[in-house]
Amino acid sequence: MKYLWIFLVLAEGMFFSAKGQNNQSYTDVLLLMGSRFEITAVSSDKDKAQQAIQAGITEIQRIEDLISSWDPNSQTSAIVANAGIGPVQVDQELFNLIRRSLKISRLTHGAFDISYASMDKIWKFDGSMTDMPDSATVAASVSKINFNNIILDAKNRTVFLKEKGMKIGFGAIGKGYAANKALSLLSTMGLDGALVNASGDLISWGKDAGGKEWKIGIANPKNKEQIYSWLTISETAVVTSGNYEKFVEFKGERYSHIIDPRTGYPVKGLSSVSIICPDAELADALATSVFVLGKEKGLELINQLNGIECILVTDDQKLITSQHLQLEYQETNNKN
Ligand code: ADP
Ligand code: MG
Repeated sequence: MKYLWIFLVLAEGMFFSAKGQNNQSYTDVLLLMGSRFEITAVSSDKDKAQQAIQAGITEIQRIEDLISSWDPNSQTSAIVANAGIGPVQVDQELFNLIRRSLKISRLTHGAFDISYASMDKIWKFDGSMTDMPDSATVAASVSKINFNNIILDAKNRTVFLKEKGMKIGFGAIGKGYAANKALSLLSTMGLDGALVNASGDLISWGKDAGGKEWKIGIANPKNKEQIYSWLTISETAVVTSGNYEKFVEFKGERYSHIIDPRTGYPVKGLSSVSIICPDAELADALATSVFVLGKEKGLELINQLNGIECILVTDDQKLITSQHLQLEYQETNNKN
């Protein structure tokens, strides 16, 4: 479970929207890409809403088939099966996703890397570890990770993993990509609003059932029951990375389940990272990146990027935001 310190505030029941329509919000919850997806459509027409939701589901399933690492018949699995052997021709869509992933790797100096998937799982987060593994074991565990060894050929639309044993996986970008695609499809279906929530990774369009801008409440990290501030998220994605429960502790230091692919060591210092920007895919990838980069370097990166903001929660429950983030503070709730 993700530490839910961001609450989605959905208008409930039936409302009269600004247009004077009898709008209602319809939501379907289902398991897609191994995650809980919630797809919401706002409309005065129930059939229209349900059709739109179904179209969104079909779209996410289509993407899952393309990028899945566990389906042996996916194009992604074909790339992995041919690591160190030869290039594999793929659909333009997958090719482009990999190309964008490599861009984020360059932007983050390798903090984000889809070849992360080839890491040996030497860290256990179930309390069974008593000591740090030795440094040679740690170094060996990440030896096959290197985004520079993912070779793209745009002319032939091929992907080649240069070294045997290399793997790629879209765990840190795929959900965001799917959310983008599903939402943009829903936005063409005559609705008044739509929202896709992939286990806390959100993207919205249009208006909520009350005809208002979509809003989320951000919980006070020191008191999860309390709303710390509000954030309008119209036409924006909010993606949260982090896991409050999964960590390992050595000599009183808490290490998170996210591992720096450049060193093989779990990162520490942050307990949650939320990225706010119009693009759910970019937000997804940057959330993991900032986690790996840590508080200082992560903030520095986000502050340099136009139109991309972040909210970080540190290990000691401090909330830090990027320079230009506008939060609507709740005076009454913010006294402690
Ligand atoms: P969630 O699935 O809850 O959104 P995260 O956003 O933290 O979780 O992403 C975790 C996923 O990202 C895992 O599937 C993992 O394999 C992948 N991943 C972890 N670290 C990296 C990294 N540095 N680069 C690319 N992918 C990563
Ligand atoms: Mg993510």
